[in-house]
Amino acid sequence: CPWGAPNTTSMSCSLADVMSEQLAKELQLEEENAAFPEVVAVAEGPFITGENIDTSSDLMLAQMLQMEFDREYDAQLRREEKKINGDSKVSISFENYRKVHPYDSDSSEDEVDWQDTRHDPYRADKPTTTPRRGFIGKGKDITTKHDEVVCGRKNTARMENFAPEFQVGDGIGMDLKLSNQVFNALKQHAYSEERRSARLHEKKEHSTAEKAVDPKTRLLLYKMVNSGMLETITGCISTGKESVVFHAYGGNATEDKVIPPECAIKVFKTTLNEFKNRDKYIKDDYRFKDRFSKLNPRKIIRMWAEKEMHNLTRMQNAGIPCPQVVILKKHVLVMSFIGKDQIPAPKLKDVTLSSEDMTKAYYQTLNMMQQLYKECNLVHADLSEYNMLWHDGKVWLIDVSQSVEPTHPHGLEFLFRDCRNVAQFFQKGGVAEALNERELFNAVSGLNITADNEVDFQEEIEALEKMNEDHVQNHGKKLSTFSSDGDPPIYDE
Ligand code: ADP
Ligand code: MN
Repeated sequence: CPWGAPNTTSMSCSLADVMSEQLAKELQLEEENAAFPEVVAVAEGPFITGENIDTSSDLMLAQMLQMEFDREYDAQLRREEKKINGDSKVSISFENYRKVHPYDSDSSEDEVDWQDTRHDPYRADKPTTTPRRGFIGKGKDITTKHDEVVCGRKNTARMENFAPEFQVGDGIGMDLKLSNQVFNALKQHAYSEERRSARLHEKKEHSTAEKAVDPKTRLLLYKMVNSGMLETITGCISTGKESVVFHAYGGNATEDKVIPPECAIKVFKTTLNEFKNRDKYIKDDYRFKDRFSKLNPRKIIRMWAEKEMHNLTRMQNAGIPCPQVVILKKHVLVMSFIGKDQIPAPKLKDVTLSSEDMTKAYYQTLNMMQQLYKECNLVHADLSEYNMLWHDGKVWLIDVSQSVEPTHPHGLEFLFRDCRNVAQFFQKGGVAEALNERELFNAVSGLNITADNEVDFQEEIEALEKMNEDHVQNHGKKLSTFSSDGDPPIYDE
């Protein structure tokens, strides 16, 4: 051969190898390892690990990966920021280029549901007028939230809250500043898009409803972990018909919020039919009257979460042992965990108490019921040994999303039912001094119903409710039938 003998290059791998996905992955991994030598340690919650991961939703996977990436990107940014600034007295901030923002920094109403627990929109008496802090800085360096640049950037960042399938481009990465007008127009459009796609995906969502939480909720939970608010979500404590409760380890505190070391996350189920049987609680609750008719079922479920938050806050303020609210996001309520080391405190029905503790628990429960009624202006409405936990030598009240004010059209009936449960439990538990249900009802409500049998008693209760309802009808719903110092309702006309 005039060209000389060709060097027989032995192919190192076959075509099959070249086409192999496995190999492609390995190569990519090698490349990535070279590019990012410092591996950022990422706390893995149950929502991203191995078997648990829901691979049915590409969208969610992509979003999770994106968040993961953002976090690593920020870590890298911080390293570079440090490198550039060194020991210099004047430093350059890369803050605006960061991708992950603390969960709390965004005050967009759509994402954050009444975090400011000082204001309870359902409160019968005057709401407090404490204004929200709308500025940062001091003196002449003051920057209000209306500052054009700050506002513009915020608007851009808020685009992240639009439905994920809504394309917003990469304005977020470009320090783009959107005017309020443009932002609002976009928001409007995003919402109608979301509604449209929701209709399209309705079928699909129904099929995943069986699972503990739907992809959107998982994303919400994952965001909480990713933002550092929660350290890890360790697992599920309880799956009920209307809610799923998870345990989590608390993450980093923010400037205005301390996160408890252990948290309980209550996810109100968005499977709509479960809530139908709860209508009677909310439909007649005058606090919700205006809102109820206008809302779609999804919003109604959020309202349950909201109600639980406000009721817990009232109880906390009265010093009743109960979970402390950490944050509310849509239908997800994060609160302090009652228990220790991932083990929830036992329900009163599951714990064996000494007769001494049983008596103590009884008096404490009586006290709490009175406080709840008089100081919080609430009736638990699902009080029983199932919703009382024994922890730290005392009883803790939980599960108050259905709690109502005593003047609710069925408020006194609910109270009577609570009293029946409590009286029966402690009488069966051997507490000799436990009041019977009627005595307990009078002791809690301050009313003096004298009927000596259950049927008559119940009738009198219903008569009182009717009288009060007429009173409310005649005087308009704004009329407060309570004096602000927590006296029992005025039923006399
Ligand atoms: P539901 O009964 O409506 O499903 P609950 O609020 O009663 O919802 O929560 C269900 C269960 O989850 C409770 O019985 C309790 O065991 C557990 N749980 C709820 N909140 C907490 C909390 N803050 N700390 C510890 N355990 C909790
Ligand atoms: Mn419960």
